[in-house]
Amino acid sequence: MKIALIAHDKKKDDLVQFSLAYQPILKDHELFATGTTGSRVMEATGLDIYRFQSGPLGGDQQVGARIAQNDMDLIIFFRDPLTAQPHEPDINALIRLADVYSIPLATNMATAEILMHALERGELHWREVIRSRQQQD
Ligand code: PGA
Repeated sequence: MKIALIAHDKKKDDLVQFSLAYQPILKDHELFATGTTGSRVMEATGLDIYRFQSGPLGGDQQVGARIAQNDMDLIIFFRDPLTAQPHEPDINALIRLADVYSIPLATNMATAEILMHALERGELHWREVIRSRQQQD
């Protein structure tokens, strides 16, 4: 599964803790992240992560482009709902595309944990099936 990790600044510590806790699950998947989030998580966990640009410099749009290309299966996006972000339009566009393509996307820890458990149980395998089927067309 191709999984993208994104966290706004005040949520980065939470995502690092989350990634440490779920490292045994995450390590079996292909990981992507926006720039700073990726550095923080790699440093803390040793996980191998492909890093896009930093969010405000286009990273969210790069994740969105992967969704539009049917090349992303799951998004963990720890948003900060209490701080205005300069790249709000990009964030909205990313969430919109996840809804357009029905990509599982968690915007908080509680939902992200449910997705990790589903991933562990193999319940999100349908995403890979859809992706490989559409890539063959
Ligand atoms: P960052 O981007 O990981 O580069 O901080 C995340 C964001 O703010 O969207």
